[in-house]
Amino acid sequence: MRKTIIAGNWKMNNTRKEARELASELAKALKGKSGLPEVVLCPPFTSLADTVDAVKGAPVAVGAQNMDYHDSGAYTGEISPQMLLELGVTYVLIGHSERRQLFGETNQTVNLKLKAALKQGLIPIVCVGETLDERENNLTDAVVSRQTAAALENIDLEALKPLVVAYEPVWAIGTGKVCESAEANRVIAIIRNTIANCKPGAANLAEQTPILYGGSVNAKNSVELLTQPQIDGGLVGGASLKVDEFLSIIEAGQKRLVALGARA
Ligand code: PEP
Repeated sequence: MRKTIIAGNWKMNNTRKEARELASELAKALKGKSGLPEVVLCPPFTSLADTVDAVKGAPVAVGAQNMDYHDSGAYTGEISPQMLLELGVTYVLIGHSERRQLFGETNQTVNLKLKAALKQGLIPIVCVGETLDERENNLTDAVVSRQTAAALENIDLEALKPLVVAYEPVWAIGTGKVCESAEANRVIAIIRNTIANCKPGAANLAEQTPILYGGSVNAKNSVELLTQPQIDGGLVGGASLKVDEFLSIIEAGQKRLVALGARA
């Protein structure tokens, strides 16, 4: 059974104090609960250490929103994987569409970052997804396949075991326009198929890789999204900033786990 993951991408929101408060409230609500999905909080770099501290003892992991692929050196303003590990960070988002669109990240830098994250032992969440223009030109399947295949290039099957992918249609991010659950499920199946065909013997990897959906996930639509067989969780932006809303999405993840357990 693949992991169910609910990850919150706080983007450039929350001061250290606010991050600590939000993370503490979530940790308090989740402490001692069983049957939870994997819960991951991705605050800005400045709040990583506070968030790690605030969730200590709770079933909550912490992820970074980005990282550099070098170990160290003259890369002003960048943060290395080792620096994240030192803080107690275990996950990292790679190639979020805002990084690709606003900060010049490419399929090649995503590939380099994925290699670096895996080498250092961070769990990577690689983001892929088409723009509205690409969708309207029937390029969705080609775009997500190309992004996925390029990310995985020249990486051993064994090294890819921790891989997590997030399908995030760019037009659905922060817009309130959610992708229909059946369509998200279909595109995620394409991504899974791309992983299966990326190298010989990758069928198992594809079957075991959690693939999340992201794009205007909220408390209301999460239950339906998470009943789809291919959608293994959510990467949640705006709704992850509100305790009750995010807890409801986590509950939808719990329901998915119960349903999967009943089917197994
Ligand atoms: C995101 O930031 O990855 C995201 C999906 O944002 P939102 O949930 O706000 O659309």
